[in-house]
Amino acid sequence: MTKINGVETRMSPSSRGKVYLIGAGPGDPGLMTQKGMDVLRTADVVVYDYLAADALLRHAREDAEHIYVGKQGFTRHITQGEINQILVDLAAAGKTVARLKGGDPFVFGRGGEEALALVEHGLEFEVIPGVTSGIAAPAYAGIPATHRAVATTLTFITGHEDPTKDETQTNWEALAGLSGTLCFYMGIKNLRLIAQNLMKWGKDPETPVALVRWGSTPEQETLVSTLAACAEDAERMQFEAPAIIVVGEVVALREQLKWFDDPAQKPLLGKRIVVTRSRSQASELTAQLEALGANVFELPTIAFEKPDAALMAELEAAVARLGNYQWLVLTSVNGVDAFFEALDRAGKDSRALAGIKVVAIGPATAKRIAAHGIKVDLLPRQYIAESVVEAMLSQKGAEQTDRVLIARAELARDVLPDALKAARLAVDVVSSYKTVMPEKSNALTLINELKNDKIDAITFTSSSTCSNFCAMVADALAQTENDLTVRELLTGVDIFSIGPVTSQTIADHRLTATAEAEEFTIAGLVASVVKHVARG
Ligand code: SAH
Repeated sequence: MTKINGVETRMSPSSRGKVYLIGAGPGDPGLMTQKGMDVLRTADVVVYDYLAADALLRHAREDAEHIYVGKQGFTRHITQGEINQILVDLAAAGKTVARLKGGDPFVFGRGGEEALALVEHGLEFEVIPGVTSGIAAPAYAGIPATHRAVATTLTFITGHEDPTKDETQTNWEALAGLSGTLCFYMGIKNLRLIAQNLMKWGKDPETPVALVRWGSTPEQETLVSTLAACAEDAERMQFEAPAIIVVGEVVALREQLKWFDDPAQKPLLGKRIVVTRSRSQASELTAQLEALGANVFELPTIAFEKPDAALMAELEAAVARLGNYQWLVLTSVNGVDAFFEALDRAGKDSRALAGIKVVAIGPATAKRIAAHGIKVDLLPRQYIAESVVEAMLSQKGAEQTDRVLIARAELARDVLPDALKAARLAVDVVSSYKTVMPEKSNALTLINELKNDKIDAITFTSSSTCSNFCAMVADALAQTENDLTVRELLTGVDIFSIGPVTSQTIADHRLTATAEAEEFTIAGLVASVVKHVARG
């Protein structure tokens, strides 16, 4: 705080950094708050730890710095003091920091300590509460934290007291005397001790207990037991942290209220599926798979760029004489955007398409065209080049003199133009964009998961996703200095293709598609994944 004319004011946010202590929720990225997401999208730096969902990092600014301060997997133990210092340094350097913390930052999250460190240095912070795992993990296991007439109190307890403390601060007698729900965080290692203490102070050994591990994530596991038996059951099943221990009668409701880990609703629960689309286009497929319980690994294999200058000039020329064409064929969502950008650069808008029949290859492309105010004239029944020709020829007015403009990706296949030419239409092909391999890649991480049999399936939504995938993985394999081939690495992994052209490319790479979508769309692809991968 600074005093200006006797009034306390904060310095302008642009001159000082600020740390947002954000509750990232228990794991399901959808449980992050809107406010937290808004900050994450714009922050300069994201500081995150082990329990904050990887999937959330995708929403950070592309150029945002990521700092991992997790206490697990760090080569050496990072102390809370060091984390505090990192936050202080970043804020002092004027950065906007999204400090993502699992669950809620102020519930057993040491968020209070981080906030105090910032206050001590006169730095600004805000707290954005999150959904705490003590409520969310049971909820995802079908266990309400409280229930009328069953539990009227809810107590959050740390099951991992600071071992350096001489005496326990936990009042076991009081806890055992409560008839409501007890929720222990960080308690799995001490489970036996916790159960013993509660029974010692009079809690009924038959009290239901649930352990919920990785709640709200595709790896969620739930073990239901009793106070007397839970420690043994957990040992036998090698039940590990992180988990919430729920003690109380509410646990019994799970039998009726189980929903998230119900195979009928989540047929892909726990399945690790790779999405290879571009970063900008992956979200639809990813969302559909995640809604079915899948744990998606995104490896963007394509990125979009403007075509080379000479090709760009051709595109602009075609746009300038649009009136010469009777047909315009757009082959992808990205192609639509690039085409309308070219139109815009030429000072035109969708009115320039008056009188021109517009053909979309696939419903997603049609939808994007509609977003520009144009209803497509033709959406072929099958989304491959051959059917497009057939459909165009069958349309009244497609006479031999018709001129067709195809705006598509640089280096796309020539099947469609060739077929149209063979049908004696006059065809001009222009490139409105080109697909390239992304510069940054997480292929090495994927290779590790593949080697450890963590991956169940890979989806290919186009030929180029498949070719680029193979090239990127081969490149990354070369860096790891082992002589596995891509084909060997993918042994046992199901491969899904969106359509026949993609399947051919898969075969060309000496890989075998497990299945091809019946309908050549994202929904069709998802349906075929469910059919083959869903656990029996
Ligand atoms: N601030 C966090 C808690 C951090 S303490 C929150 O509000 O949720 C870490 C403990 O949280 C873990 O040991 C475990 O008990 C619990 N926890 C965190 N995420 C969990 C999850 N997805 N499922 C079950 N328990 C979880």
